[in-house]
Amino acid sequence: MKYVDEFGDPDLAATLVEGIRRRSTRPIRIMEFCGTHTVAIFKHGIRQLLPSTIEMLSGPGCPVCVTANSDLDWAIALAREPDVIVTTFGDMVRVPGSRSSLERAKADGGDVRLVYSPLDALRIARENPDRAVVFVGIGFETTAPTIASTVIQAEEEGIGNFFVLSLHKLTPPAMKAILDLGESRLDGVIGPGHVTTVIGSQAWEFVPREYGLSCVVAGFEPLDVLQGIYTLVGRIESEDPHVDNAYTRSVRAEGNRMALGLMDEVFEVCAADWRGIGSIPDSGFAFNSGFRRFAARERFDVDPGPPEEPAGCICGDVIRGAARPTDCPLFGTACTPSQPVGPCMVSSEGTCAAYYLYSGE
Ligand code: SF4
Repeated sequence: MKYVDEFGDPDLAATLVEGIRRRSTRPIRIMEFCGTHTVAIFKHGIRQLLPSTIEMLSGPGCPVCVTANSDLDWAIALAREPDVIVTTFGDMVRVPGSRSSLERAKADGGDVRLVYSPLDALRIARENPDRAVVFVGIGFETTAPTIASTVIQAEEEGIGNFFVLSLHKLTPPAMKAILDLGESRLDGVIGPGHVTTVIGSQAWEFVPREYGLSCVVAGFEPLDVLQGIYTLVGRIESEDPHVDNAYTRSVRAEGNRMALGLMDEVFEVCAADWRGIGSIPDSGFAFNSGFRRFAARERFDVDPGPPEEPAGCICGDVIRGAARPTDCPLFGTACTPSQPVGPCMVSSEGTCAAYYLYSGE
């Protein structure tokens, strides 16, 4: 197939659905790690096409959702500092922290600006040499290379007023943490297609090796997702744990060497706090000694106060696949995309927002 429309071909989709139905003989639970998969599954009505033997659970693959309140609160406190410009991506601005949000900090006079790329933040730093410009960097291994190249560029240009609050996270350690918890009782995992384009499908080999489960890396068009589920169901039914790559037009076993090289040049791996999971060893990126001067936490000393979770919100359980959004008493009543209580309803990749917008529940 050559064109994106072909990956939504209804006849091919029907053939794959039929194949999944034939293969699936017993109840199984599959987690799609990635929020983009969650949205694709809901948007294209894939859950409704699957046999009742297959239960799909959403995982922690939404960067906005997994950002811990303590980190968000720190960014909000920073936005109140004079002579600081806080820059970040759109969804982050609306996420409620413990007592405020970046949106509210802006309304209260803080200089908070939306950017589409860290390069926009670097441009703002160039244009405002008398002020400190901090980019609040969230995302997984897909966005970390762009931060790395931006910081390298800032270093080469000698821009001294640019800083990054690195909240970037690594996905395999989070999957491992969820499998270690065991509460979602998974039979298989759909690995994130974009992330795996960077880190390579070999990064998921621990799933069959250490947990005896299968993992399939899939793309995001309807046929990609169905092909992934078809492959995974086959592995589960035949009890043949394996990592399969169903996204060969983008993913290689070894990943993207250039992107991996950029991350290696700038970052070192550290522990990171995940909403709903807590601190996971080796799951975050901090600047290494060569680039530490860009670390916002090294440069600024702000006190955001103790973190608090929004009352009644069960985002943490939703992120771990331990609850569904519809288990939350606030879902669709006190909490909607226009008035979100927790991050899973704010983010375009959030599980609660996907349920609300597409499931009809
Ligand atoms: Fe949190 Fe709202 Fe989702 Fe409930 S519905 S878990 S309050 S984001």
